[in-house]
Amino acid sequence: MSGQRALVTGGAGFLGSHLCDALLGEGWSVIALDNLLTGRRSNLGHLRNEAGFEFIEKDICEPFDAGRVDYIFHFASPASPVDYMEHGIATLKVGSLGTFHTLELAKKHGAKCFVASTSECYGDPREHPQKETYWGHVNPIGPRSVYDEAKRFTEAVTMAYRRYHHVDTRIVRIFNTYGPRMQLNDGRVIPNFMKQALRGQDLTVFGDGRQTRSFCYVSDEIDGFMRLAKSDEHLPVNIGNPNEFTILECAQMVLRVTESNSKLRYEPLPQDDPKQRRPDIAKARQLLGWEPKVQLEEGLRRSLEYFQKAVAAETAKK
Ligand code: NAD
Ligand code: UDP
Repeated sequence: MSGQRALVTGGAGFLGSHLCDALLGEGWSVIALDNLLTGRRSNLGHLRNEAGFEFIEKDICEPFDAGRVDYIFHFASPASPVDYMEHGIATLKVGSLGTFHTLELAKKHGAKCFVASTSECYGDPREHPQKETYWGHVNPIGPRSVYDEAKRFTEAVTMAYRRYHHVDTRIVRIFNTYGPRMQLNDGRVIPNFMKQALRGQDLTVFGDGRQTRSFCYVSDEIDGFMRLAKSDEHLPVNIGNPNEFTILECAQMVLRVTESNSKLRYEPLPQDDPKQRRPDIAKARQLLGWEPKVQLEEGLRRSLEYFQKAVAAETAKK
Protein backbone atom coordinates (compact mmCIF):
# COMPACT_ATOMS: atom_id res chain seq x y z
CA MET A 1 0.00 0.00 0.00
CA SER A 2 3.07 2.23 -0.10
CA GLY A 3 2.36 5.67 -1.59
CA GLN A 4 -1.39 5.30 -1.03
CA ARG A 5 -3.19 8.02 0.93
CA ALA A 6 -6.10 7.31 3.26
CA LEU A 7 -8.37 9.82 4.97
CA VAL A 8 -10.12 8.85 8.20
CA THR A 9 -13.07 10.99 9.31
CA GLY A 10 -13.55 10.73 13.07
CA GLY A 11 -9.85 9.79 13.27
CA ALA A 12 -9.43 11.12 16.82
CA GLY A 13 -12.16 8.83 18.14
CA PHE A 14 -11.89 5.39 19.69
CA LEU A 15 -12.19 3.27 16.52
CA GLY A 16 -10.86 5.93 14.12
CA SER A 17 -7.57 6.23 16.02
CA HIS A 18 -7.03 2.44 16.05
CA LEU A 19 -7.81 2.38 12.32
CA CYS A 20 -5.17 5.10 11.71
CA ASP A 21 -2.64 2.84 13.49
CA ALA A 22 -3.59 -0.16 11.35
CA LEU A 23 -3.41 1.80 8.08
CA LEU A 24 -0.02 3.31 8.97
CA GLY A 25 1.13 -0.19 9.93
CA GLU A 26 0.32 -1.33 6.38
CA GLY A 27 2.27 1.53 4.82
CA TRP A 28 -0.52 4.00 4.04
CA SER A 29 -0.11 7.74 4.58
CA VAL A 30 -3.00 8.83 6.73
CA ILE A 31 -4.90 12.08 7.26
CA ALA A 32 -7.24 12.09 10.26
CA LEU A 33 -10.07 14.62 10.22
CA ASP A 34 -12.00 15.31 13.38
CA ASN A 35 -13.84 18.19 15.07
CA LEU A 36 -13.10 16.70 18.53
CA LEU A 37 -16.81 16.62 19.45
CA THR A 38 -16.43 13.28 21.24
CA GLY A 39 -12.86 12.39 20.26
CA ARG A 40 -9.56 13.48 21.77
CA ARG A 41 -6.20 14.59 20.41
CA SER A 42 -4.56 12.32 22.99
CA ASN A 43 -5.87 9.26 21.08
CA LEU A 44 -3.44 10.29 18.32
CA GLY A 45 -0.67 11.62 20.59
CA HIS A 46 1.59 8.64 19.85
CA LEU A 47 1.47 9.51 16.12
CA ARG A 48 2.62 13.12 16.58
CA ASN A 49 6.05 12.50 15.04
CA GLU A 50 5.02 9.78 12.64
CA ALA A 51 6.03 10.50 9.04
CA GLY A 52 3.03 10.08 6.78
CA PHE A 53 0.49 11.07 9.42
CA GLU A 54 -1.42 14.32 9.61
CA PHE A 55 -4.25 15.51 11.85
CA ILE A 56 -6.67 18.20 10.70
CA GLU A 57 -9.28 19.64 13.05
CA LYS A 58 -12.39 20.01 10.92
CA ASP A 59 -16.16 19.65 11.05
CA ILE A 60 -17.13 17.49 8.06
CA CYS A 61 -20.64 18.96 8.04
CA GLU A 62 -18.89 21.73 6.07
CA PRO A 63 -17.57 20.71 2.64
CA PHE A 64 -13.88 19.74 2.84
CA ASP A 65 -10.97 18.63 0.69
CA ALA A 66 -7.61 17.46 1.99
CA GLY A 67 -6.09 16.82 -1.44
CA ARG A 68 -5.75 13.58 -3.39
CA VAL A 69 -6.80 10.48 -1.47
CA ASP A 70 -7.15 6.85 -2.51
CA TYR A 71 -9.40 5.56 0.26
CA ILE A 72 -11.74 7.35 2.65
CA PHE A 73 -12.82 5.74 5.90
CA HIS A 74 -15.90 7.55 7.20
CA PHE A 75 -16.07 7.08 10.98
CA ALA A 76 -17.15 10.54 12.18
CA SER A 77 -20.25 10.37 14.39
CA PRO A 78 -20.99 10.32 18.09
CA ALA A 79 -21.42 6.63 18.91
CA SER A 80 -22.43 6.12 22.52
CA PRO A 81 -26.09 6.57 23.52
CA VAL A 82 -25.09 9.27 26.05
CA ASP A 83 -23.13 11.18 23.38
CA TYR A 84 -25.64 10.96 20.56
CA MET A 85 -28.56 11.89 22.78
CA GLU A 86 -26.63 14.92 24.06
CA HIS A 87 -25.60 15.86 20.49
CA GLY A 88 -28.76 14.74 18.67
CA ILE A 89 -28.81 17.36 15.91
CA ALA A 90 -25.03 17.10 15.34
CA THR A 91 -25.46 13.32 15.03
CA LEU A 92 -28.18 13.68 12.38
CA LYS A 93 -26.04 16.25 10.54
CA VAL A 94 -22.84 14.24 10.48
CA GLY A 95 -24.71 11.12 9.32
CA SER A 96 -26.44 13.07 6.51
CA LEU A 97 -24.46 16.20 5.48
CA GLY A 98 -21.16 14.74 6.67
CA THR A 99 -21.75 11.59 4.63
CA PHE A 100 -22.70 13.62 1.51
CA HIS A 101 -19.47 15.64 1.82
CA THR A 102 -17.40 12.50 2.34
CA LEU A 103 -18.90 10.74 -0.68
CA GLU A 104 -18.54 13.87 -2.83
CA LEU A 105 -14.84 13.86 -1.99
CA ALA A 106 -14.55 10.18 -2.89
CA LYS A 107 -16.29 10.92 -6.21
CA LYS A 108 -14.00 13.89 -6.92
CA HIS A 109 -10.78 11.94 -6.30
CA GLY A 110 -11.97 8.57 -7.61
CA ALA A 111 -11.33 7.20 -4.10
CA LYS A 112 -12.93 4.18 -2.50
CA CYS A 113 -15.17 4.97 0.46
CA PHE A 114 -15.61 2.72 3.51
CA VAL A 115 -18.51 3.73 5.75
CA ALA A 116 -19.03 2.90 9.44
CA SER A 117 -22.60 1.81 10.03
CA THR A 118 -23.99 0.04 13.07
CA SER A 119 -26.02 -2.78 14.53
CA GLU A 120 -28.45 0.01 15.54
CA CYS A 121 -29.75 -0.21 11.95
CA TYR A 122 -31.50 -3.36 13.21
CA GLY A 123 -33.10 -1.39 16.09
CA ASP A 124 -34.76 -3.58 18.74
CA PRO A 125 -34.58 -6.63 16.46
CA ARG A 126 -37.35 -9.16 15.87
CA GLU A 127 -34.88 -11.50 14.16
CA HIS A 128 -32.12 -13.09 16.20
CA PRO A 129 -29.21 -13.26 15.56
CA GLN A 130 -29.20 -10.43 13.04
CA LYS A 131 -28.23 -11.22 9.45
CA GLU A 132 -27.35 -8.46 6.99
CA THR A 133 -30.56 -9.22 5.07
CA TYR A 134 -32.76 -8.21 8.06
CA TRP A 135 -34.31 -4.74 7.53
CA GLY A 136 -34.60 -3.92 11.20
CA HIS A 137 -37.17 -2.73 13.73
CA VAL A 138 -36.42 0.91 14.48
CA ASN A 139 -38.54 3.54 16.21
CA PRO A 140 -38.13 6.53 13.86
CA ILE A 141 -39.26 9.11 16.45
CA GLY A 142 -37.80 7.70 19.69
CA PRO A 143 -34.79 9.13 21.53
CA ARG A 144 -32.34 6.79 19.78
CA SER A 145 -33.67 7.74 16.33
CA VAL A 146 -31.15 10.61 15.98
CA TYR A 147 -28.49 7.93 15.68
CA ASP A 148 -30.35 4.95 14.22
CA GLU A 149 -31.99 6.90 11.42
CA ALA A 150 -28.83 8.92 10.71
CA LYS A 151 -26.97 5.66 10.19
CA ARG A 152 -29.74 4.12 8.07
CA PHE A 153 -29.65 7.31 5.98
CA THR A 154 -25.83 7.02 5.80
CA GLU A 155 -26.27 3.55 4.27
CA ALA A 156 -28.90 4.86 1.84
CA VAL A 157 -26.68 7.75 0.63
CA THR A 158 -23.73 5.41 0.30
CA MET A 159 -25.70 2.98 -1.87
CA ALA A 160 -27.02 5.93 -3.94
CA TYR A 161 -23.49 7.26 -4.63
CA ARG A 162 -22.59 3.78 -5.74
CA ARG A 163 -25.63 3.43 -8.00
CA TYR A 164 -25.71 6.93 -9.46
CA HIS A 165 -22.06 8.03 -9.32
CA HIS A 166 -20.23 4.67 -9.38
CA VAL A 167 -18.25 5.39 -6.21
CA ASP A 168 -16.60 2.18 -5.00
CA THR A 169 -18.08 1.78 -1.51
CA ARG A 170 -18.00 -0.58 1.50
CA ILE A 171 -20.43 -0.62 4.45
CA VAL A 172 -19.58 -2.21 7.78
CA ARG A 173 -22.26 -2.78 10.44
CA ILE A 174 -20.31 -2.56 13.68
CA PHE A 175 -21.58 -4.30 16.81
CA ASN A 176 -20.61 -3.18 20.35
CA THR A 177 -16.84 -2.81 20.41
CA TYR A 178 -14.65 -2.02 23.41
CA GLY A 179 -11.02 -1.59 24.38
CA PRO A 180 -8.33 0.98 25.17
CA ARG A 181 -9.06 4.63 24.15
CA MET A 182 -12.80 4.44 24.82
CA GLN A 183 -13.86 7.53 26.68
CA LEU A 184 -14.19 6.80 30.37
CA ASN A 185 -17.40 8.82 30.58
CA ASP A 186 -19.19 8.02 27.34
CA GLY A 187 -21.81 6.06 29.27
CA ARG A 188 -21.36 2.76 27.40
CA VAL A 189 -21.67 -0.27 29.57
CA ILE A 190 -18.05 -1.46 29.60
CA PRO A 191 -16.38 1.87 30.45
CA ASN A 192 -19.14 2.54 33.00
CA PHE A 193 -18.71 -0.83 34.73
CA MET A 194 -14.89 -0.71 34.61
CA LYS A 195 -14.84 2.81 36.06
CA GLN A 196 -17.37 1.98 38.76
CA ALA A 197 -15.62 -1.27 39.71
CA LEU A 198 -12.19 0.37 39.89
CA ARG A 199 -13.58 3.15 42.10
CA GLY A 200 -15.42 0.71 44.34
CA GLN A 201 -18.76 2.27 43.37
CA ASP A 202 -21.96 0.35 42.64
CA LEU A 203 -22.27 -1.00 39.09
CA THR A 204 -25.40 0.53 37.52
CA VAL A 205 -27.40 -2.25 35.87
CA PHE A 206 -30.23 -0.85 33.74
CA GLY A 207 -33.52 -2.78 33.84
CA ASP A 208 -33.24 -6.34 35.15
CA GLY A 209 -29.85 -6.83 33.44
CA ARG A 210 -31.19 -9.73 31.36
CA GLN A 211 -30.89 -7.81 28.06
CA THR A 212 -28.01 -9.14 25.99
CA ARG A 213 -25.15 -7.72 23.97
CA SER A 214 -22.17 -9.27 22.24
CA PHE A 215 -18.91 -7.42 22.71
CA CYS A 216 -16.03 -7.37 20.25
CA TYR A 217 -12.47 -6.49 21.27
CA VAL A 218 -11.06 -3.60 19.27
CA SER A 219 -8.16 -5.51 17.62
CA ASP A 220 -10.61 -8.07 16.18
CA GLU A 221 -12.93 -5.33 14.95
CA ILE A 222 -10.10 -3.43 13.19
CA ASP A 223 -8.89 -6.68 11.58
CA GLY A 224 -12.42 -7.12 10.19
CA PHE A 225 -12.42 -3.55 8.81
CA MET A 226 -9.08 -4.06 7.06
CA ARG A 227 -10.24 -7.30 5.46
CA LEU A 228 -13.51 -5.75 4.29
CA ALA A 229 -11.67 -2.69 2.94
CA LYS A 230 -9.56 -4.99 0.75
CA SER A 231 -12.50 -7.10 -0.41
CA ASP A 232 -14.88 -6.34 -3.29
CA GLU A 233 -18.07 -6.60 -1.20
CA HIS A 234 -20.20 -3.47 -1.41
CA LEU A 235 -23.27 -4.67 0.51
CA PRO A 236 -23.28 -4.32 4.33
CA VAL A 237 -21.22 -6.78 6.37
CA ASN A 238 -21.67 -7.39 10.12
CA ILE A 239 -18.44 -7.25 12.10
CA GLY A 240 -18.87 -8.17 15.75
CA ASN A 241 -18.37 -10.97 18.23
CA PRO A 242 -21.31 -13.41 18.23
CA ASN A 243 -20.74 -14.52 21.85
CA GLU A 244 -23.75 -13.14 23.67
CA PHE A 245 -23.82 -12.10 27.33
CA THR A 246 -26.49 -10.67 29.56
CA ILE A 247 -25.58 -7.35 31.12
CA LEU A 248 -25.59 -9.14 34.50
CA GLU A 249 -22.98 -11.63 33.23
CA CYS A 250 -20.95 -8.73 31.92
CA ALA A 251 -21.09 -7.03 35.33
CA GLN A 252 -19.89 -10.22 37.07
CA MET A 253 -17.01 -10.54 34.63
CA VAL A 254 -15.92 -6.93 35.21
CA LEU A 255 -15.96 -7.54 38.98
CA ARG A 256 -13.77 -10.63 38.48
CA VAL A 257 -11.26 -8.93 36.19
CA THR A 258 -10.93 -5.82 38.37
CA GLU A 259 -11.00 -7.88 41.61
CA SER A 260 -13.55 -5.39 42.90
CA ASN A 261 -16.04 -5.77 45.74
CA SER A 262 -18.52 -3.32 44.21
CA LYS A 263 -22.23 -4.17 44.45
CA LEU A 264 -24.86 -3.99 41.71
CA ARG A 265 -27.45 -1.19 41.71
CA TYR A 266 -30.52 -1.53 39.48
CA GLU A 267 -31.69 1.55 37.56
CA PRO A 268 -34.54 2.07 35.05
CA LEU A 269 -34.06 0.70 31.54
CA PRO A 270 -33.65 3.55 29.00
CA GLN A 271 -36.45 3.90 26.40
CA ASP A 272 -36.13 1.68 23.30
CA ASP A 273 -33.12 -0.16 24.77
CA PRO A 274 -32.73 -3.25 22.53
CA LYS A 275 -33.42 -6.49 24.44
CA GLN A 276 -31.11 -8.72 22.45
CA ARG A 277 -28.30 -8.13 20.06
CA ARG A 278 -26.01 -10.63 18.40
CA PRO A 279 -24.46 -10.54 14.94
CA ASP A 280 -24.75 -13.38 12.48
CA ILE A 281 -21.19 -13.31 11.11
CA ALA A 282 -21.53 -16.10 8.54
CA LYS A 283 -21.01 -13.57 5.74
CA ALA A 284 -17.79 -12.14 7.26
CA ARG A 285 -16.52 -15.68 7.92
CA GLN A 286 -17.16 -16.84 4.38
CA LEU A 287 -16.26 -13.69 2.49
CA LEU A 288 -13.38 -12.34 4.54
CA GLY A 289 -12.16 -15.43 6.39
CA TRP A 290 -12.66 -13.31 9.51
CA GLU A 291 -13.75 -14.24 12.99
CA PRO A 292 -13.03 -12.72 16.39
CA LYS A 293 -10.25 -14.25 18.46
CA VAL A 294 -10.38 -12.32 21.75
CA GLN A 295 -13.23 -13.32 24.05
CA LEU A 296 -14.80 -10.96 26.57
CA GLU A 297 -12.90 -11.85 29.74
CA GLU A 298 -9.55 -11.76 27.89
CA GLY A 299 -10.47 -8.44 26.24
CA LEU A 300 -11.41 -6.94 29.60
CA ARG A 301 -8.03 -8.04 30.99
CA ARG A 302 -6.26 -6.44 28.01
CA SER A 303 -8.20 -3.21 28.64
CA LEU A 304 -7.64 -3.14 32.40
CA GLU A 305 -4.42 -1.12 32.44
CA TYR A 306 -5.94 1.54 30.17
CA PHE A 307 -9.00 1.92 32.41
CA GLN A 308 -6.83 1.97 35.57
CA LYS A 309 -4.77 4.83 34.11
CA ALA A 310 -7.85 6.71 32.89
CA VAL A 311 -9.50 6.45 36.34
CA ALA A 312 -6.27 7.57 38.05
CA ALA A 313 -5.92 10.54 35.66
CA GLU A 314 -9.49 11.63 36.34
CA THR A 315 -9.03 11.29 40.10
CA ALA A 316 -5.83 13.38 39.93
CA LYS A 317 -7.71 16.16 38.09
CA LYS A 318 -10.33 16.47 40.85
P1 NAD B 1 -16.08 8.09 19.06
O1 NAD B 1 -17.07 9.05 19.61
O2 NAD B 1 -14.91 7.72 19.90
O3 NAD B 1 -15.51 8.61 17.66
C1 NAD B 1 -16.27 9.37 16.76
C2 NAD B 1 -15.39 10.51 16.27
O4 NAD B 1 -16.11 11.32 15.31
C3 NAD B 1 -14.99 11.47 17.42
O5 NAD B 1 -13.60 11.65 17.42
C4 NAD B 1 -15.74 12.76 17.09
O6 NAD B 1 -15.08 13.91 17.57
C5 NAD B 1 -15.81 12.69 15.56
N1 NAD B 1 -16.85 13.52 14.98
C6 NAD B 1 -18.17 13.57 15.34
N2 NAD B 1 -18.82 14.47 14.57
C7 NAD B 1 -17.90 14.99 13.70
C8 NAD B 1 -17.95 15.97 12.66
N3 NAD B 1 -19.09 16.61 12.35
N4 NAD B 1 -16.82 16.26 11.97
C9 NAD B 1 -15.65 15.63 12.27
N5 NAD B 1 -15.54 14.69 13.25
C10 NAD B 1 -16.66 14.38 13.96
O7 NAD B 1 -16.89 6.78 18.62
P2 NAD B 1 -16.36 5.38 18.08
O8 NAD B 1 -16.82 4.35 19.02
O9 NAD B 1 -14.94 5.46 17.70
O10 NAD B 1 -17.25 5.24 16.75
C11 NAD B 1 -16.71 5.50 15.47
C12 NAD B 1 -17.71 5.12 14.39
O11 NAD B 1 -18.06 3.74 14.52
C13 NAD B 1 -19.01 5.92 14.47
O12 NAD B 1 -19.43 6.24 13.16
C14 NAD B 1 -19.97 4.96 15.12
O13 NAD B 1 -21.29 5.18 14.72
C15 NAD B 1 -19.46 3.60 14.63
N6 NAD B 1 -19.83 2.51 15.56
C16 NAD B 1 -19.13 2.30 16.70
C17 NAD B 1 -19.51 1.28 17.56
C18 NAD B 1 -18.76 0.94 18.83
O14 NAD B 1 -19.11 -0.02 19.50
N7 NAD B 1 -17.71 1.65 19.19
C19 NAD B 1 -20.63 0.49 17.25
C20 NAD B 1 -21.33 0.75 16.09
C21 NAD B 1 -20.91 1.76 15.24
N1 UDP C 1 -26.19 -0.48 30.47
C1 UDP C 1 -26.25 -0.75 31.83
N2 UDP C 1 -25.54 0.03 32.68
C2 UDP C 1 -24.77 1.08 32.27
C3 UDP C 1 -24.69 1.35 30.88
C4 UDP C 1 -25.43 0.55 30.00
O1 UDP C 1 -26.94 -1.70 32.25
O2 UDP C 1 -24.16 1.74 33.12
C5 UDP C 1 -26.92 -1.36 29.53
C6 UDP C 1 -27.78 -0.62 28.51
O3 UDP C 1 -29.08 -0.36 29.04
C7 UDP C 1 -27.80 -1.60 27.35
C8 UDP C 1 -26.43 -2.29 27.42
O4 UDP C 1 -25.95 -2.06 28.76
O5 UDP C 1 -28.81 -2.56 27.55
C9 UDP C 1 -25.43 -1.75 26.43
O6 UDP C 1 -25.44 -0.35 26.51
P1 UDP C 1 -24.43 0.59 25.75
O7 UDP C 1 -24.80 2.00 26.09
O8 UDP C 1 -23.04 0.16 26.02
O9 UDP C 1 -24.67 0.32 24.19
P2 UDP C 1 -25.94 -0.01 23.27
O10 UDP C 1 -25.71 -1.41 22.84
O11 UDP C 1 -27.23 0.13 24.04
O12 UDP C 1 -25.83 0.98 22.16
